[in-house]
Amino acid sequence: MTLEKSIAVIMTLLISAASQAAYITINEAELDRIYSQDSFGDLPIDIRIGQPSEILAPNLLDITTREEVRQLFNMHSGGFNIVNFYFIDTISACGSSTGTNIVGCGEYFGNDFVVESRFADSGYGSELLAHELGHNLGLPHLNGAFLMNPSLNNRTLLTEAEVAQIRQSPLVQNVDNTYWIDINPVLIVRELTKVSEPATFVLFMLAVFTLLCRCKVSNKYAFSLERY
Ligand SMILES: [Zn+2]
Repeated sequence: MTLEKSIAVIMTLLISAASQAAYITINEAELDRIYSQDSFGDLPIDIRIGQPSEILAPNLLDITTREEVRQLFNMHSGGFNIVNFYFIDTISACGSSTGTNIVGCGEYFGNDFVVESRFADSGYGSELLAHELGHNLGLPHLNGAFLMNPSLNNRTLLTEAEVAQIRQSPLVQNVDNTYWIDINPVLIVRELTKVSEPATFVLFMLAVFTLLCRCKVSNKYAFSLERY
């Protein structure tokens, strides 16, 4: 590989990192499995993931206050029965809770929730998304070996009582006993993906290095989920 090529490859990687500080990870098959487990009987709920979109909101990539959560959820796009999944870098506030152990926040009865990209991309990703969706569907926390346990625990069990609650949610659509929930992923970005003007490149690279630096100092592991 020539030096020019090497530089080009590195720059491409950096641009990719800068424009997608947060990133989307959804395991639709695993979400389908969670929402079709035994407690759903023979009427599973199909989780349908729509087209992802981007919102330019650099100030909301790292959420530290309840007000910022509100700002994010006020960006909801689509009808009332379309759930918006927001992907950001970090969140440390949700409802009345604050703390660096928070990794996701969902409206308790609502159609918006937000998660940290890194956790959506971890071994807990599907559990995290399914848990926050559970809050949207009207489920409170349930301590124990359940999906709605407030901390990530590798459990995805939903009780029959919870499934009965889920079926009452306006998010659950139903035609001829086929049940589904529509979900649109929303990526919060520092820069819109298509940036090509050379004049912006220097600023862009500065953003890249700031970003890399932040990643290092904010690297943390936590397993808490909070409802909004
Ligand atoms: Zn929760």
